[in-house]
Amino acid sequence: MRALVYTAVRVVEMQERERPQPLPGESVIAIEAAGICGSDMSGFLGHSRRRVPPLVLGHELVGRLNDGRRVVANPLVSCRRCSACLSGALNLCSSWRLLGMDQIPGCFAEFVSVPMDQLYEIPEAMPTVRAVLVEPLANIVHLFRLASPQPFFRLGIVGAGTMGALALLTANRIGVREVLIQDVNDARLAAMRDMGATLAVNVATAEGRDEARRFAGAGFDLVLDASGSSPARQAAFDLCRPGGQVVLLGMAEERSEIDFVASIRKEHRVTMSFAYTPLDFERSLTLLKAGEIDLTSWTRVLPLEEGQQAFNTITQSPGGTLKMVLQVS
Ligand SMILES: [Zn+2]
Ligand SMILES: [Zn+2]
Repeated sequence: MRALVYTAVRVVEMQERERPQPLPGESVIAIEAAGICGSDMSGFLGHSRRRVPPLVLGHELVGRLNDGRRVVANPLVSCRRCSACLSGALNLCSSWRLLGMDQIPGCFAEFVSVPMDQLYEIPEAMPTVRAVLVEPLANIVHLFRLASPQPFFRLGIVGAGTMGALALLTANRIGVREVLIQDVNDARLAAMRDMGATLAVNVATAEGRDEARRFAGAGFDLVLDASGSSPARQAAFDLCRPGGQVVLLGMAEERSEIDFVASIRKEHRVTMSFAYTPLDFERSLTLLKAGEIDLTSWTRVLPLEEGQQAFNTITQSPGGTLKMVLQVS
């Protein structure tokens, strides 16, 4: 089969690979299309210890089973036996595995093998670019479920990437009062305005930072770091009101220095959100099936063969593109 293989830092190339053999309980999926995730990008850039070349990346997939059924897959496979799994927190499984990570080949290929109980059938009419969002949106459903914001909450989002955008769209669905989103990419900030951000501001300049601070006023009830860089994490705390909640989602950097004393004095509640459970995945699928969340206008589709260009573009000069999708068949 054809596969896009990550062979060295910043290099992906098409190779012929053996078609996967399904293990007991697994099904082989013929991939239709696959989204490039931020975690695939960090692998590509050589920042992920668990994505080491040679490896087929990718875990956001839509495809077809042998019998013709069209499916999406929850790519996070948990043991379903450890205490975390038994408590319902399958995202915290002591031995979770993800497609396109460690030794497990991902979905930037013609075929991938996935446990059958991870699959969800989707309608033929569901657009491909919406179907590949089920996995990324599940992360956002999960974080709002953890954070449980109060009605009419004010939200700050640091980072206008895919996660920031999906958080904005989801917040609008659940009754947010006002949303500030900050970033340093003007094209993406323009997209955030189109998606209904109350204020989308470029904080590369002192004026931009002032504008964000003025709008924040006493601070936001909930602030999401959807970036994971050290300055972004501190910015999330700075934007949070006394007694408010900071949700840390971005994983760009492993360690960061935070002004803890300032946050202790404000009694900031800190929530860390990781991945999603099957429940979140199903809710995400429901929202996307209903067309209530959509990034189509900001999605770019390239053939798998142009994977190198797709990765270069999305990591170096994404412009207003919020999701890069590789068309496989
Ligand atoms: Zn993902
Ligand atoms: Zn487990």
